[in-house]
Amino acid sequence: MTSPFCALLRLLSCCLLIATLLPGCADQRRVPRIEPVLWGWEQAHEPVDLLLHAFNTGTMRILPGAMARGGSWQEASEIPVPAFVVEHESKGLLVFDTGYSPAVRDSPEQYLGPLLAALDLCDTEPGQSLPEQMLAVGLDPADVGYVAVSHLHFDHAGSVEAFAGATLLLPRREEEGAWGARWFEDFFFEEDWDDIERRTVIDYAATEPWATFDGHYDVFGDGSAVLVDLHGHTAGTQGLVLRGRGGVILLTGDAAYTEASWRYVAQPAFAQDMDDWWQQAWRINRFVGLLEDEGGVLVVPGHDLRSVREADRADLRYHEFVAVPAVQADAD
Ligand SMILES: [Zn+2]
Ligand SMILES: [Zn+2]
Repeated sequence: MTSPFCALLRLLSCCLLIATLLPGCADQRRVPRIEPVLWGWEQAHEPVDLLLHAFNTGTMRILPGAMARGGSWQEASEIPVPAFVVEHESKGLLVFDTGYSPAVRDSPEQYLGPLLAALDLCDTEPGQSLPEQMLAVGLDPADVGYVAVSHLHFDHAGSVEAFAGATLLLPRREEEGAWGARWFEDFFFEEDWDDIERRTVIDYAATEPWATFDGHYDVFGDGSAVLVDLHGHTAGTQGLVLRGRGGVILLTGDAAYTEASWRYVAQPAFAQDMDDWWQQAWRINRFVGLLEDEGGVLVVPGHDLRSVREADRADLRYHEFVAVPAVQADAD
C-alpha cells in the first residue's frame, strides 16, 4: 500500500516532471566560450596556511531528477547538508555556508511551513547544528569574523544568526532575489539572516573578473580566500576559492549540487536562471581544467561530501557527526 507521503511525493514528481520537460524540449544549450585564462591569478600573494573544516549538519531527501536531468523521479535519495569553517593562520575564522537551523527539527511547522514540514524531507539531529559541532571540536563560534553563504536558501543560511558578532558577506543580488522570490521557488527564510547587523554588501557586477569567474571579493585581502560570482542557481549565488600552502579548493554551493553537476555539466531541473547556471558550471569546469597541471583543484559541491571524505590532505579536516545518545527518562 502506498503511504500518503509517497503518494504526495509522486504527485509532486509528476508535476515537476511536466513543468521541467515542457520548456526542456526546446532546450539546446551550447558550450559557452570561456577564455582559457586565469585572470589575476599570477598577482603576487603571500602563501599562508589555511585549514578547512567540513561538517555535515543534516540530510535532505530529494529526487535525483531534480538535481540532474536524466535522474530518477521515483526514488528519493538522501543528500548531506554541509557547512564549512576556514581557519586562517593569522586572520581568524571564516564560515562558508552554515547548514540547517535547529528549527528544522524543533519547530518544523513554523519554520519550514506546513507543506515542507508535512513532506518530512529534512533531518537534523540534536547537536548537529554548525555552532554546536564547532564547539565540540574546539572552535568557538564567537571567534568567527566573517560569515558568507553560497546563497540564502534555508539549508545554507539556517545558522547565520548564530554568528551575530561576525560580518555577513552578502551579494547585493542575492538579498534582492531572496526578498523578491516567487512563491514556488521561495526557499528563503528571512528570519535566518535579517537580524545580522554587520554586513558587507558585494556588488559583483562592479568587480573585476578573477580566475575564470566574472566577479570576485577577496575576504582577507591577501588572496587566500576569494569569494567568486556563481549566480544562476539563485540571483546571487557565490562560491569560495581557497588558495593556501596546501593547494586550491573550490566550494561551489548549489552552483553544483554534486560532482556530476560541474564535471559533466549535469543540468538541474530548476535554477533561478538556467542560462546563467549553465555558464557557471562551465566556468567551474574551465577553472579545474586550467589548474590541472599545477596541483589541481579540490572541488567541494553544495550537497556532495565525497570529495572531502576521499581527500587526504593536511589542509582539510572532515568532522564526522556523532549523534548524541538520547537521554532516557528512566535512566536511573
Ligand atoms: Zn539552493
Ligand atoms: Zn542547497
